[in-house]
Amino acid sequence: MSAGAGFVWDERVARHVYREDHPLKPIRLVGVRDTLTRLGAFDRPGAHVITPRAATRDEIERIHDPEYVEAVMQASADPASDYSAYGLMPWGDTPPFAGMHEVSLLTTGGSLGAMEDVLAGRARVSVNYSGGLHHAMRRRASGFCIYNDPAIVCAKLADRGMKVAYVDIDAHHGDGVQAAFYETDQVLTISLHESGRTLFPGTGFADERGRGKGLGFSINVALPAFTDDTAYLRAFEAVVPPLLKRYRPDVLVTQQGIDPHFTDPLTHLQVSTHARERMVRFFRDTPYPWVAMGGGGYSLDAVRRTWSMEYLVMLGADVPEELHDREPPSWTGRQRETIDALADEAIREALAAAW
Ligand SMILES: [Zn+2]
Repeated sequence: MSAGAGFVWDERVARHVYREDHPLKPIRLVGVRDTLTRLGAFDRPGAHVITPRAATRDEIERIHDPEYVEAVMQASADPASDYSAYGLMPWGDTPPFAGMHEVSLLTTGGSLGAMEDVLAGRARVSVNYSGGLHHAMRRRASGFCIYNDPAIVCAKLADRGMKVAYVDIDAHHGDGVQAAFYETDQVLTISLHESGRTLFPGTGFADERGRGKGLGFSINVALPAFTDDTAYLRAFEAVVPPLLKRYRPDVLVTQQGIDPHFTDPLTHLQVSTHARERMVRFFRDTPYPWVAMGGGGYSLDAVRRTWSMEYLVMLGADVPEELHDREPPSWTGRQRETIDALADEAIREALAAAW
């Protein structure tokens, strides 16, 4: 396997605006690219930039209903009409905007390009930080997500007969990906997230285990609000390594939204760059070909520093101190005990749900 690391980049996936006041700002990726350029990341051995291609209609329809794709195409050309039946609402989470179909084909194609790079043996890992849009459903946009690129990648890999492990460390439950593979054992989905009791989309409890052949192959670790590095890493390490070892996937797909960061304005987790570095090092040290994606992340500075750090780890490069949080939050005393007890319960329930 190559030691290289692919990085999907194109100005065109960073220019679109959902709505002026919308929290998802694709322009955030420019900060990541600029930081990595300044640090010389792209000059390092194994670093290579992948220009995304547009996903094809067939690829999109591997997961999405053709009628929904038609609606997105219409909304893209004429955003002022009513598409609320498809989850697209001007003042909702996912507003229709001009060009949305075309740019979503590119963000999805970026994830497919990362997948192809890894399968061709050109990279140990390839990452598309414009992807990871894990909430999109078969016939409905949801939670800032139009086309579900992680589900499309997992499906394409499964179609090649590969066993896929999908690990989602965004603050929100990876509900769209879970739904796409709820009845199959060919894609194992593991989502660690803030509990649906306190955060969108309100799902992701341990008893959502899959159905039929898929029973036990949907794993949910529902963490309490205010989970810090210590409790988060405890949950990650108790669940992810043993289940990957048991499942023995042919390929690993990760969704690395950085909205669990303690400065993120939309969520209540308290994770820092330090815990993230540990998790990304774990992914890197697994023997599996690895396709990585971005996801949420609404503190632009946390996005810039964390995703830059992660790509350096993927390259096997040192991480400069400037990218790390100086004083990550850490609970003590009674609060420590409460968070740890709730995290332990989430761990127990998640492990008990597994096949
Ligand atoms: Zn999120």
